[in-house]
Amino acid sequence: MVFTVDYKSILQLIEEINPITYCRNRNFLDGNVSKLSPYVSRGVISTKQIYDSVLARGFNPKEIEGFLKQLAWRDYFQQTLIAKPYLAETEIKFQQTDVENRELSLNIVKAQTTIKAIDDAINSLYVTGYMHNHVRMYVSSMVTNIAKSDWRLPSKWMYYYLLDADVASNSCSWQWICGANSSKKYYANQENINKYAGTNQSNTFLDVSYEEIATMPIPTVLKETTNLDFYTNLPQKSSLKIDVSKPTLLYNFYNLDPIWHQNEEFNRVLLLEPSHFNKFPVSENTIDFVKELSKNISSIQIYCGEYEDLKKEYQIRDFIFKEHPLFAHYEGKKEARDWIFPNTKGYFPSFFNYWNASNKNM
Ligand SMILES: Cc1cc2nc3c(=O)[nH]c(=O)nc-3n(C[C@H](O)[C@H](O)[C@H](O)COP(=O)(O)OP(=O)(O)OC[C@H]3O[C@@H](n4cnc5c(N)ncnc54)[C@H](O)[C@@H]3O)c2cc1C
Repeated sequence: MVFTVDYKSILQLIEEINPITYCRNRNFLDGNVSKLSPYVSRGVISTKQIYDSVLARGFNPKEIEGFLKQLAWRDYFQQTLIAKPYLAETEIKFQQTDVENRELSLNIVKAQTTIKAIDDAINSLYVTGYMHNHVRMYVSSMVTNIAKSDWRLPSKWMYYYLLDADVASNSCSWQWICGANSSKKYYANQENINKYAGTNQSNTFLDVSYEEIATMPIPTVLKETTNLDFYTNLPQKSSLKIDVSKPTLLYNFYNLDPIWHQNEEFNRVLLLEPSHFNKFPVSENTIDFVKELSKNISSIQIYCGEYEDLKKEYQIRDFIFKEHPLFAHYEGKKEARDWIFPNTKGYFPSFFNYWNASNKNM
């Protein structure tokens, strides 16, 4: 699985989504999912763009509601992060219960859990930077609810490898699985995994009923844990050419939009701040992906350093950037991101509340 980095090809992928088959089979590992999240998370395209595109193709909104709702989940999590900017460290609703360690099972990291669908998906994540949503749920459940690890380090581990690494979707989902953002923990047993992954395993430690799974001790294969340290290898800092008579558009890990102020005369800087990546580390594969995607933005220059240093070094007074809670320290003109439902703002305790409010606002 190779993710294109060419903007035209990315737009073509939006056109190729079949939201009807998606609704029928999205939970199956070989289902027709869009694989657009790396582009949405990197801010190359927006959920609104995808939403508008499928509706413009004439699909009946009721018939494709399952797809539209998944897009809205993403915006819902983004609103949650705006309202709760510390959710990568702090529980949203409840303390995670039944925690026995703050590390990660060694055999999960090594993709040697003995559950084939999970091991294959982890190996594939390391290579491709993508994992199907249903396996993300399986993995997260195995980590937090079966191996009883605190959710923080493992969510960082998954984020590190994902091309679609997104603090909001990642943290909200991990917290949802372990019962910190929902009223109960999520479990999947072998029967469920076999059904959606197309495997045929039996007599595994997950081949038990849901009553047993929720009360069983940590399986031997998951007992040994490891601590992990993540590091982001940023490109070397190089010198920029800045025309201070023109405003500077700031791009970052969450905004690589090639059509933002397209054809206007601005300086364009992709700012990769070490302080950001110390907090939210990503793999070399992800940084390469970002560098390649940035080539869709004409005359963009990459600055690996802190915002304050960029400002001082080049005497820049006029910045323009897109709103994002992880970059609240930027100063200048803040522009809105694209939202499917621009009038639905703030924290909603459930997606159901968010969806209903959005439909009322429409
Ligand atoms: C433990 C866990 C960790 C996750 N971490 C991330 C993450 O770091 N970054 C990330 O973008 N997503 C994350 N997700 C959400 C989801 O798994 C991915 O967005 C989805 O798998 C992306 O694949 P796709 O583009 O093929 O999605 P599709 O199923 O084709 O959906 C279309 C679009 O809708 C949005 N979407 C779909 N499902 C979800 C969802 N459950 N939550 C939020 N948005 C959704 C995405 O923008 C996606 O591109 C996580 C989910 C779990 C369970």
